[in-house]
Order: sequence, then C-alpha cells, then structure tokens
Amino acid sequence: MDFNMPEDVEIMRTTIKKFVEKDLEPISQQVEEEARIPDEIVQKMRDLGLFGLAIPEKYGGLGLSTIAEIIVYEEITKTNACFRSRIGTSNGIGSIGIYYDGTEEQKKKYLPRVASGEWSAAFALSEPEAGSDAANIKTTAELDGDHWVLNGMKHFITNGDCAHLFTTLAVTGKKESGRSEITAFIIEKGMPGFSIGKKEKKMGLKGSETTQLLFDDCIIPKENVIGGDAMIGQGFKTAMRVLDKGRLTMGACALGASQKLLDMCVDYAKQRVQFGKPIGQFQMIQAMLADMATEIYAGRQMLYHAACMRDEGRKITREASMAKLFCTEMASRIADKAIQIHGGMGYMKELPVEMFYRDVRLYRIYEGTSEIQRMIIARDLLKD
Ligand SMILES: Cc1cc2nc3c(=O)[nH]c(=O)nc-3n(C[C@H](O)[C@H](O)[C@H](O)COP(=O)(O)OP(=O)(O)OC[C@H]3O[C@@H](n4cnc5c(N)ncnc54)[C@H](O)[C@@H]3O)c2cc1C
Repeated sequence: MDFNMPEDVEIMRTTIKKFVEKDLEPISQQVEEEARIPDEIVQKMRDLGLFGLAIPEKYGGLGLSTIAEIIVYEEITKTNACFRSRIGTSNGIGSIGIYYDGTEEQKKKYLPRVASGEWSAAFALSEPEAGSDAANIKTTAELDGDHWVLNGMKHFITNGDCAHLFTTLAVTGKKESGRSEITAFIIEKGMPGFSIGKKEKKMGLKGSETTQLLFDDCIIPKENVIGGDAMIGQGFKTAMRVLDKGRLTMGACALGASQKLLDMCVDYAKQRVQFGKPIGQFQMIQAMLADMATEIYAGRQMLYHAACMRDEGRKITREASMAKLFCTEMASRIADKAIQIHGGMGYMKELPVEMFYRDVRLYRIYEGTSEIQRMIIARDLLKD
C-alpha cells in the first residue's frame, strides 16, 4: 500500500498545520482555563470547511477521503483535544448515520446545515445502564399516529450543549429473541419534551461539553426515523457502522497527541541540562525517546493502512478496532513517558504535557473501551 499522499491531501495537511500554529495553539491554555472555545475560532473552523470534512460535496461538505480526514485529525490533535471534539462529533458520529442510512430527503435537509457548521450534530447512544453493553438502552419510542413519543435519558453526550441535531437511539420493540429492537432517530434541539440535563465535570477535555439529554414525552415527527419506515428496528446496525469509522478518528487523535508529545520531548531533551549535559545524552532518556518514536511509527502505519482499506471499500471492523486499541493505548504510554522526561515541569500546568496526559486517557474509554476493542478483534478472529 502506497502512503505517498496525493497533492490535495498534502495541501490540506499544510493548511491545518498553519491553522493549528497560528490560531489554535496560542489560545489552547485559555480554552483550557475558560472551558470554552471562543466563537471567532468556531467561525474560522466553519470558514475552513472543517464541519464538513467527510460530508460529500453533493451535500455541501469537502468530501475528503478517509485518509485525508485522518490526517486532518492527526494535525488538529497536536494542540488542545477539544478543538477536534468540536468538529469531529458533527462531521462524524453525529451525522454520518444520516449519510449511511438516511433517506435522500433527510440527507438534503440535514447534511448541508451540518457541513456549513450552521448546525452541530451529536450522537446519543450511551445511558447510565448502557455503556459497553450499548444494546441495553432503556430509552423508548412509541408510535402514536403521525409521531413518535420518546421517553428516557442519555448521558455523557459530547457537544450536547451546542448541538442542533442528535442522532439518537431508542427501543421501539422486542425481537423474537427477546433482545430490544432499536431504531435511530433524528432529534432537533427545541422539539417538545426534549431538554439538556446536567453538564459533567471532567478530568480532561475541558473545552468540550459533555451533557445528559432528557426525553419527557418528546414528540418526534414520524419522518425522523433515520432511513424511514424501512429502517425501523435497524438502528443498532446504523450505530455500529457509525462507530467503525469513529474508531479510526480516535486512533488519529491519539496519534496526533503522541507525535506532539514526542516532538516536545525531543526539544526538551536537547535543551534541559543536568550533570553538565543535555538530558538527551543519557541513555535512559534516549531509550524512552526511541520507544516512543517506534510505537508512533507502528501506530501510524496501522491507522493509515486501515484508512486506505476503508477508502478501497473494504470491511474494516477488525482493523479499525486494532488501530484504535493500539494507538490509544500507545498514547497513554507516551504521555506517561513525556511527563517523566520533563521531570517536575511535566507535572506543572505551565506546559501542556499534563493536559495531554489527562486528555489522551479518554481515548481508551469512549467510542468503545480497549476491552471492547479486544472483544471485537477476538470475535472476528474466532468466527467461522
Ligand atoms: C468524555 C466522554 C464523552 C462521551 N461522549 C459520548 C457521546 O457523544 N455519545 C455517546 O453515546 N456516548 C458517549 N460517551 C460514553 C462512552 O462511549 C462510554 O463511557 C463507554 O462506551 C464506556 O461505557 P461506560 O462508561 O458505561 O463503562 P462500562 O461499560 O460500565 O465499563 C466499565 C469497565 O468494564 C469494562 N467492560 C465492560 N464490559 C466488558 C466485557 N464484556 N468484557 C470486559 N470488560 C468489560 C469496560 O471496558 C470498562 O473497563 C462518552 C464518554 C465520555 C467519558
């Protein structure tokens, strides 16, 4: 497989690098302290088309290939992770289900608004009793004439506060097997009976809001089932397809953060002097740097390979899980070493190393924990 990127991908990489250096990195600490991204930065993201990276040009997006999108996320996560979170959920898990399985009418109605950044999108699957066991959701939807009535609660929803549309999973019946029949709905902010609940206080990703969503006899038009009547009861399949792609994005975020940490460590090892020498001349520091670089090299190959496979239209369930598992576990190991190499300074808020340490921890949890990725990989290996 050839990883020489086409010219347009390299141009995109350069554009994002410049945006990160000029606009995002200088305000990263401010965003961390104020726990919000300034409106003018969100506008710049809109102007660059970042809300429509993966949405096809036909629906107003940039229509990037998976590999190009991965490279954008890799670059943008070399600074505060919340910037990626602001655009990624909209482009990805929040709206991609509509692109995969929505009716043409739904695509035309919603995707251009998301692509332009006029509307943000969120993905609402998790509930207090349904995390890894996502099929165990309790939110229900009952058909009542020309509309559905939703009742229940979602929690830990990224961008819950700023999203205008929510790809939401609810139980619409029972299968013969006794398992719940799940349907995916498009819920718009302001629909009667829908409100935003508590905002979570988190360990990291401070500039990204994570909220509850509350449905209290929430009225949704019949036509808001993703894919229409034919897709009633098929929502869990939509959700799993959405997450396959999301896993590559998580891998890219972990890769970008790891590369940034390595770059910071190399600089620090050259300039920090102890015992009369730069610490980079000590073999134990060199070994840490070499291990970090080696892991990043391996992670990048896996991720780019899986992204290219997806662009070739191949099934990537196993590869996406492997890339997510490897890159996200790698990022935590690398962040730990990065603190070690920076010594006491690594622990101080003056440098962003401790922020990366906290932020990369999340990648091993959401969009499927490391344990769930191992289950998916093993299931695929052992299937007949
Ligand atoms: C900041 C943040 C943002 C999030 N954003 C969203 C969002 O936008 N939309 C959304 O729908 N969800 C979101 N989530 C939810 C996230 O996807 C879940 O937290 C995640 O899937 C894990 O579920 P859980 O927290 O309930 O943990 P649990 O499922 O309770 O897992 C607890 C532990 O048990 C392990 N475990 C569970 N089952 C097994 C098993 N069968 N074998 C071995 N080990 C197992 C897990 O790996 C984990 O270590 C977000 C979470 C966070 C923290």
